[in-house]
Amino acid sequence: MNTTISKKGVEKTAVVAYMEAAIKKLREHNTTFDLDLLQAITRPKRQILVEVPLRKDDGSYTTFQGFRVQHNDARGPFKGGLRYHPNVDLEEVKTLACLMSLKTAVVNIPFGGGKGGIAVDPRELSQREVERLTRNFTNLLGENIGPDRDIPAPDVNTNAQIMAWIVDEYCQKHGQLLGVVTGKPIELGGSLGRDEATGRGAMIAAREAAREKKIDMTKAKIIFQGFGNLASFGAQIAEQEMGSTVIGVSTSRGAVYNKKGFNLVQAGAYYRDNGSLKGFPGVEWMTNEELLEQDCDILIPAALENAITAKNAKKIKAKIIVEGANDCTQTEGDKILNDRGIFVVPDILANAGGVVVSYFEWVQNLQNHYWELARVRQELERIMVQAYAQVSARAQEYHTSYRESAYIIAISRVARAMQLRGGV
Ligand code: GLU
Repeated sequence: MNTTISKKGVEKTAVVAYMEAAIKKLREHNTTFDLDLLQAITRPKRQILVEVPLRKDDGSYTTFQGFRVQHNDARGPFKGGLRYHPNVDLEEVKTLACLMSLKTAVVNIPFGGGKGGIAVDPRELSQREVERLTRNFTNLLGENIGPDRDIPAPDVNTNAQIMAWIVDEYCQKHGQLLGVVTGKPIELGGSLGRDEATGRGAMIAAREAAREKKIDMTKAKIIFQGFGNLASFGAQIAEQEMGSTVIGVSTSRGAVYNKKGFNLVQAGAYYRDNGSLKGFPGVEWMTNEELLEQDCDILIPAALENAITAKNAKKIKAKIIVEGANDCTQTEGDKILNDRGIFVVPDILANAGGVVVSYFEWVQNLQNHYWELARVRQELERIMVQAYAQVSARAQEYHTSYRESAYIIAISRVARAMQLRGGV
């Protein structure tokens, strides 16, 4: 977890620290929100903890802890992914749920925020075991999820197949409510363009940032930490549509780097075949930490939380950081980046493309009317560009970083909705 110590000596997450700084700024600008209401936004509305049973293929029986935190639904149903990872715990899920409330608000889509997951390493389970675990988890979540209540989606180590099992389990009891989750396979009510959406959104944010910082995207050298959903699509879009050169990517095992670039398609195939990029020809092999410190124009951390710390923030050479991973910069690291004039596009804006196209998917499910890919891309572009411009404008107006600006916009929108509902 990404924490700092508050004045009372109590651990405080970076997200809560960023929220408190934004709330302070909002009050300095004489907003009409009362402090109690603003403080309430820092805390989740409901926290669900379940013990998910699993009968293993070998007949043995075990359980895993499952979580769903429903952070805020003042602006619409709770919305956010489910991750399957051994490090998942309640504190992490609370932080990520809160970020979802802010993310949906900053891009102004009619959702609140939630997050969930199971503390499990899915690589240690067979496909059948992952399916049974997912179905049991869905049943334990019961009435708490639904298209008008709380809508899960893929996140770390979860995918369209897992969403399909949730749909099947949920719809057996509730009828064909495909909008219960997003990120589904196309054949089961998924949206075209949802798979690439987080990467595309991040690249739109990177392009807007480069424009403001007067960096030519066709000459930009980009490093992605990660090679999962965001980084693989993002890297492809960076090279094929924006003319940039991707000079580094990584997996949990290590990173590859070549300042002149390398063949991404071949790297993708190599990773699929070998489960690692180690041994991929024509590149330097290094650690994930080393990759972050290499020379580049744009750095896109797109792996797990806490990638940027007080320690490595001093050594980062990028001009622009586009936060692909949620909660990826620790408070101290953020201060150092700001002092060093490294421009940061915060996670709640930079990686919002996924949930924006999740919104399109949900709309399509509710209407039973499906869009063409060009429409999905065009609407995503419109929403991302607009949100970016609003964050930029507020940052100039309040003389803040883009992170603080994004938090200010998001918190104001959530607070306004809570106030209109009566402040509860
Ligand atoms: N897991 C993604 C995120 O963190 C997507 C969430 C969604 O589509 O609901 O933004």
